[in-house]
Amino acid sequence: MNPFIELGIRHDIVNAISELGFEKPTPIQEQSIPVLLTGSNDFVGLAQTGTGKTAAFGLPLLELLDFEENYPQALILCPTRELCLQITNDIKNYAKKMGNVQVVAVYGGANISDQLRQIKRGVQIVVATPGRMLDIINRKAIDFSKVKFVVLDEADEMLNMGFQEDIDSILSTTPEEKKTWLFSATMPSEVRRIAKKYMKDPFELTMGEKNTGNVNIEHEYYIVRARDKYAAFKRIVDFNPDIFGIVFCRTKIETQEIAEALIKDGYNADSLHGDLSQQQRDKVMKRYRDRNLQLLIATDVAARGIDVNDVTHVINYSLPDEVENYTHRSGRTARAGKTGVSISIINAKELGKIRQIERGLGKRFVKVEIPTGFDVCEKQLFSIVHKVHNVQVNEPQIEQYIPRIMEEFKEMSKEDFIKRFASIEFNRFLDYYKNAPDLNAPLEEGRRFERNDERGIDRGNGSGKSEFTRLFINLGSVDEFNRGDLLGYICNQTKISGRTVGKIDVKGVYSFFEVQNADVDKVMTGFKEADFKGRPVRIEISGEGSSESRGGNYPRREGGYNRERSGGEKREGGYNRDRTSASGGFRDFSGKRKEDRPERRRRF
Ligand code: AMP
Repeated sequence: MNPFIELGIRHDIVNAISELGFEKPTPIQEQSIPVLLTGSNDFVGLAQTGTGKTAAFGLPLLELLDFEENYPQALILCPTRELCLQITNDIKNYAKKMGNVQVVAVYGGANISDQLRQIKRGVQIVVATPGRMLDIINRKAIDFSKVKFVVLDEADEMLNMGFQEDIDSILSTTPEEKKTWLFSATMPSEVRRIAKKYMKDPFELTMGEKNTGNVNIEHEYYIVRARDKYAAFKRIVDFNPDIFGIVFCRTKIETQEIAEALIKDGYNADSLHGDLSQQQRDKVMKRYRDRNLQLLIATDVAARGIDVNDVTHVINYSLPDEVENYTHRSGRTARAGKTGVSISIINAKELGKIRQIERGLGKRFVKVEIPTGFDVCEKQLFSIVHKVHNVQVNEPQIEQYIPRIMEEFKEMSKEDFIKRFASIEFNRFLDYYKNAPDLNAPLEEGRRFERNDERGIDRGNGSGKSEFTRLFINLGSVDEFNRGDLLGYICNQTKISGRTVGKIDVKGVYSFFEVQNADVDKVMTGFKEADFKGRPVRIEISGEGSSESRGGNYPRREGGYNRERSGGEKREGGYNRDRTSASGGFRDFSGKRKEDRPERRRRF
C-alpha cells in the first residue's frame, strides 16, 4: 500500500502527489501528518527548510477542510512573497484531483485588486504574508470568523522581519477555538514566547537537534587574507564546475559589487537585494530557478524564503552575525534529502565566530585549503571529460553534419582529437591560473589555529614542532574518495586508529593526510604492496621526491591575460609555487611523468 494512504491521506490526493514524485513521506511528514489529521491539537514543528514541511501541513488541511463551503477556513502566514507563492502552488498541486479547492495567495508588491477579487469569489485556504494580510483585514475585505486552522510557517523568520505586531492583529480576527500549527527552523526565545501565547498545550515535534543544521550539510571554512577574499572565492567556484550556489553577503553594496565583478569576470551571476524592485527581484529569481544563473548573490533579507531545490553550495562571503542566520543560509542547500555544502570564507580573526557557530549548531566545521591553480585546472579538465562522456547526442540533428566533421578530422588520431577537444576549455583555465599564488592565509597568521584540526585533535607538542607528518597518496576525488572514505581506507589498510589521523585534504588524483610521526612507518608498511582497483598505491612523505624538487613545473605561458582581480600574482611577482603540489609529482599536464598515471590516460 502507498505509505501516504497508510498515514490516512485519501486516494485523489495521493495520486496527485505521486505525480509530483512523492513516493514515501519525509520524516517530518511521517510524524506530523497523523497528529495533524486529528485536527484537535495545536502543534509546534521544529524543522529545517526543505524537509517537506509544506506537505506536512498542506495534506492534513486538504483532509480537514470542507470544500463544499466557500469561506476562509485555513490561514497560512509566511514571511515572504516567494514562500507564499510556493506554498500556494504546492497546495494547488496536491489538490489537483479534488474538486473546488480554492487557494489564494495574498502578498505585497502585487496588485491588491486581483487578490481582493479572488477572495470575493470564495476561498477556503488563504496563504499570506503578514503586511498585505493586515491591509486586507483593515479594508474589511475578508472574514476570518470561521477559520479553523492557522499555520505560522517559518515563524522565526517572520519574527526576525518584525511581523510580531501584524501577526497579533491578524490572529485577533480569528476564533479562539481555532488550532494553530507553528513551524520554525530554529527556536529562539521569541518563537517560544509566541508558541506560548497562541497555543494550548501544543504537540511538539523536533526533527533533529534544536538549532542544528540539516545533517546532510557539510560545513567548511577557508582562511584567507582579507585582500585575497574575492580571488579565493572565484577559485572555490572554479574548483566546483557544476556549482549551483547562493552567495551571501552582509550588505546590499557588497552584494552588488560582488555580482558586478563576477559578471565582468565572465561568471553567470546576478544579485538579489532590497534595493531592487519587486519586478527585478522576480526576474532574477526566475533566472535562478530556471538555472539560467549559476550564482545568486544575495543579502540575508532578500534570500529569505528562497525555495530552490538542488542548490549545491551556500557560500558565506561574509559571515552573518547570528547563528540563526547561518542556519537559515545553510538551509538553502541540502533540501529534500539531497546533500550540500555550506562554505565560509573568513580571515584568521573570524575563527572565533566559526567556533561560536559550531557551538550553536553542535557541529564541527572542516577547515579546507583554498585549491591551488593546478587543482582547479585538473578539476575543470575532468569536468570537461565527464561532460563529453555523458553528453546526450541528438542523433537526428547532428547526423547531417557528421560527414563534414569526419572529413575535417580524417587525418587525426583518436588520441590527438580527444586531446584537442579537452584542451578547448582547459587552455582557458591554464592561462587563467598560470602563476596563481597560494591564497591560504600564511602560517604566521594561521599559527593560532594550527593546534586544532577539524576533528579536534591536538596537533602540537608544545615545542613548536609538529607531531604530525603530512603524507601524499596517489588517490583522490577522481577515485571517488571523500575525506571520510579516505580515512576509512587508510585505517583499514594500516590498522592505525582514525583518531590519530590528522588533517585530510582530498584533491583530484591525489590527496594528503597527516599521521602522527610515530605512525609513519606503520603507514608505509601497510601500503607497501597495496593496490587500488589494480593500480599500485603510492605513499610519499610530503615534500620528498616532489616534482618541484625535481625541477618539474606548472605549465607556464607568456602573455596570457590574468583574470585574478586581487592582483595577487603581481604582488607576488613570479611566484609560481603551488603549495600542496610540492609532493605530488603529478603537477603537469604536458605529458611529463605520464608513466605515473596510466589510469588517467585510460580515462581519455
Ligand atoms: P518543503 O520543505 O515543503 O519546501 O519541501 C522541499 C522539497 O521537497 C519540495 O520541492 C517538495 O516538493 C519536496 N518534497 C516534499 N515532500 C516530499 C516527499 N514525500 N517525497 C519527495 N519530495 C518531497
